[in-house]
Amino acid sequence: MKLSLVGLENEHGAFKQFDVLTPAPKLIAPDGTEVLAKAPLHVTGTVTNTGPCYHVSGEIEAKLSLVCARCLERYLLKLKVPLIEDYAKSGSSDEQEDWRSFQGDEIELDGAIEEELYLNLPLRGLCDKNCQGLCPICGTNRNREQCNCKEERVDPRLAVLSKLLDNAPGGGGKDGTT
Ligand SMILES: [Zn+2]
Ligand SMILES: [Zn+2]
Repeated sequence: MKLSLVGLENEHGAFKQFDVLTPAPKLIAPDGTEVLAKAPLHVTGTVTNTGPCYHVSGEIEAKLSLVCARCLERYLLKLKVPLIEDYAKSGSSDEQEDWRSFQGDEIELDGAIEEELYLNLPLRGLCDKNCQGLCPICGTNRNREQCNCKEERVDPRLAVLSKLLDNAPGGGGKDGTT
């Protein structure tokens, strides 16, 4: 999304408000799954000519669909993240390291928007803090149904192993005798 600076150029302190709906960028969540946008991004704020740079102060509202780290179902994440950036004209002597640059008479905000959203994605997001996750044995989503494979099933390999340990000479036994 682009912000026009027309009308702000020659006046320090001049500012403009913006309120824009723009398509969400394609994002990959930290777990490698695709982030789906459930609505266009709502970007609001002001851009001010401070003299050496244009200061953008605003907010991004996003409705994103992410995959729950426990049950692997998609869930809706509503994000509101600040968008605070400084832009200096490309090649200007005032340019500072943490400023972004622009050319012509408009600022391209997409790069900053994508970064802010990405930084605010959860590392291990959950559909609900009480999500019960999947049964490790049968894969049933425990938020929806109860399965019967709780304690009954013991991995047969583990059963053999524990038997071997029980019978091992030299103190491996449960009661400590040999
Ligand atoms: Zn979940
Ligand atoms: Zn199960």
